Amino acid sequence: MQNVSKWFPFCDRTNQPWAAIAFLLCIFAISALYGASVTRISWDSEAERTRFAVELDQDVVVNAVDNIREKGFYYVDVYGITTAYKRRLLDINDSLVRQVESISYPEHGVLRFVFYVKDQAKGFQVQRETAPFRLFIDTLATTSSLVSPPISGASRTSGPPFNDVSSPIVIRDRVSSTRIPPIPEPPSSPLLGRRSQGAKKIVVIDPGHGGANQGASSQALVNGRIIYEKELTLQFAYHLKKIIDSSPNMVAVLTRTGDTLVPLSDRVAFAEKQKADLFISIHMNDGAGNPNARGMEIFYLSEKGADDAAAKAVAERENLDVLANGSATRAGTPLLAQLLTDLERQRLESWQYESYVVCTRILNSFQQHPYFRSYARGIKSANFVVLKNFYMPAVLLEVGFITNSDELRYLINPKFQKLTAILLYNAISEYFAQTDPTFRPERKPMSVALE
Ligand SMILES: [Zn+2]
Repeated sequence: MQNVSKWFPFCDRTNQPWAAIAFLLCIFAISALYGASVTRISWDSEAERTRFAVELDQDVVVNAVDNIREKGFYYVDVYGITTAYKRRLLDINDSLVRQVESISYPEHGVLRFVFYVKDQAKGFQVQRETAPFRLFIDTLATTSSLVSPPISGASRTSGPPFNDVSSPIVIRDRVSSTRIPPIPEPPSSPLLGRRSQGAKKIVVIDPGHGGANQGASSQALVNGRIIYEKELTLQFAYHLKKIIDSSPNMVAVLTRTGDTLVPLSDRVAFAEKQKADLFISIHMNDGAGNPNARGMEIFYLSEKGADDAAAKAVAERENLDVLANGSATRAGTPLLAQLLTDLERQRLESWQYESYVVCTRILNSFQQHPYFRSYARGIKSANFVVLKNFYMPAVLLEVGFITNSDELRYLINPKFQKLTAILLYNAISEYFAQTDPTFRPERKPMSVALE
């Protein structure tokens, strides 16, 4: 592997070792407070693969965008890096990759690697290792999947995901120990300038499914009948709406108020029309044959692919639109079909990052309660139709698994539904306080006895 630590001067331990060590200690101290840092960069060329390795001192979230066929490059955004790095252009010039450019956006906590590839390059793959923390970004001579689950430690898609250090709990630790800097308002534009400070914040709550679109269903019978996801999502949504509406500085609107069929695109259009400040879609998860799967997951939009196979399966399930006659159809992806202008791309990415920040707030808030602390599955990204918009952060919460009979007992419990609403409310309130200095956050006590 060729070492390119020179890119990141604090990695250079050869000159003036004491100064370098002092500098390293300083960087580690700062990074422990503020986010992940890159400790080493290297690459390796083979005929069919160029491997680019990024070593880190903490776990990170990764998102990749493929423009290989259209524009001859792809890029990988590493979230959670608040250290500012100088823009660098590295000549690789092997059979697959011309150059790699690193661009730092410390104000967004993002370090971007752009891979300018040759004609022989057809795809790429990003793998995340958790012990030690590093990313392998492979440019490939064949087409490939985009972002794969961690390749060491327990995978999030199998096994008990809760009690090992490489589970999403790592993300929780990172979130709780990381002070994410305030997100600057995205560049002003007629579309983005609609959020007003001081006015009541509008939260659009989207109870998933409805009408002929029943969503997931319970395996166990409750009072002799199957429970459908569409019923529970509406119940959770009403609890959240009630709490939000009782606050002085927020108001909630629902995308459906009864058992009605609402197409996914109409839900997005509705939120845009409301000029909402936040969109939150509520769902119950489906173990897809695994009755033991349990716990909450929180998603933000990833334009290209999902974090892992399980996240992809969730998105595929939630992206099904159901017609009035009950037949399911894959929802259109109008936004992705468009060729985005640079400005639109920038805007989408800004909201994507803000949505991730909302996810961290929600996960943090849920970690305050023992139930969710035991069963949190973490933050994930996937390609959800209902999360695609240019106007507001949007997240999708899978509260728990309707297919797990133990968890189902909680999901149908109005006290649990209220608790969930309180935790969501606290997270939303903190998020708004972070983005609007005139917003006064309010914290509701989570004094709800579940049993
Ligand atoms: Zn759903």
